[in-house]
Amino acid sequence: MSERFEGNFTQQEPISEDAIAAAVAVLRSGRLHRYNTARDEPGEVALLEQEFAAFTGAKYCLAAASGGYALGCALRALGVAPDEPVLTNAFTLAPVPGAIAALGARPVFVESTENLTIDLDDLAAKAPQARVLMLSHMRGHLCDMDALMKIARAHDLRVIEDCAHTMGASWAGVPSGRHGVIGCYSTQTYKHINSGEGGLIVSNDPELAARMILLSGSYMMYPRHLAAPAPEVFETLKYDTPNVSGRMDSLRAAILRPQLAELPERVTRWNRLYGAMEAGLAGAPGLALSERPQAEQYVGSSFQFRLPGRDGAQMLDFVARCGARGVELKWFGAAEPAGFTSRHDSWRYVEAQDMPKTDAVLATLLDLRLPLTFSETDAAQIARIIRDEVAR
Ligand SMILES: *Cc1c(COP(=O)(O)O)cnc(C)c1O
Repeated sequence: MSERFEGNFTQQEPISEDAIAAAVAVLRSGRLHRYNTARDEPGEVALLEQEFAAFTGAKYCLAAASGGYALGCALRALGVAPDEPVLTNAFTLAPVPGAIAALGARPVFVESTENLTIDLDDLAAKAPQARVLMLSHMRGHLCDMDALMKIARAHDLRVIEDCAHTMGASWAGVPSGRHGVIGCYSTQTYKHINSGEGGLIVSNDPELAARMILLSGSYMMYPRHLAAPAPEVFETLKYDTPNVSGRMDSLRAAILRPQLAELPERVTRWNRLYGAMEAGLAGAPGLALSERPQAEQYVGSSFQFRLPGRDGAQMLDFVARCGARGVELKWFGAAEPAGFTSRHDSWRYVEAQDMPKTDAVLATLLDLRLPLTFSETDAAQIARIIRDEVAR
């Protein structure tokens, strides 16, 4: 009898008792809207923003309704216009090209490497076409951020970082989200802190931060923010910035604050699971692991590997065999999007673009989640099953 894994790849940890108590206090107060605060009470959302700004070392922070909203808000703040080309990764999740398309702008895809990061040569080649790069740190992989920012500076490219998978990560000591002009994060259930839905935005640029606060629907109550630019900065912007409501509410902020305090400890636990997977799969013939550069401090909340040389039928067969043994894998090479959409050619509202390098990578790329409900023993068992099936 071959062993079978019994864990659930989408089971998150429960919300902690202190977070539940904070949520109940908000519910009892009835003051769920971020600006519905009692006298002298800053409110959970303003406090979360202040704490997240401190966590990332950013001057300004805004909490929003979702990660996708955060991306759209960043693009709007940068004045991205209809039909404007915006560079982005060919391999990312649907909310990224979606945010660009929602403004009527045009996603221009940049190739991805075998390490799942943006291809810097392709970026340098395409940089003259655009003013803005929406850089997605897909599946938590950071490219050489110093090299990327050098290209960006040389071409006057403004960089928005999509840090949905890199909250808590850093490159050469600089937190993910702090290289570009704006950093966007998601607090959706499958990310690193969980409020069901939600987003966070950081920036050091006072004008962009003020614009984003106005865009989010601040009803001129921006002086109540604790991680916002001075009220004067808003003076010249407040009449010209449309309200595109997308605020976070106090209930979500209340459950996020205790989770943010816990994030460094979570990162350690995720990286232990990741380490157990890596150790279990190291040297397996026919299986390629991602390289993790020394400068990259990652959060191993998901795990990727490739099976170079296998064709589509063999990939499907491998996914099915692992699935039968309880190991749920996602194959990014499938023709039809199922359960997620991460392929440039499944976003048909975008003009079709040739991405041979990315397609070759995705053709043999597999992915699995590592929820914190798994133990290192679980991760070792998952690796054993994968290793066993690769050898068959
Ligand atoms: C989750 C995610 C987002 C944001 O998604 P929301 O569901 O809107 O919070 C953005 N980019 C990537 C790569 C993601 O995985």
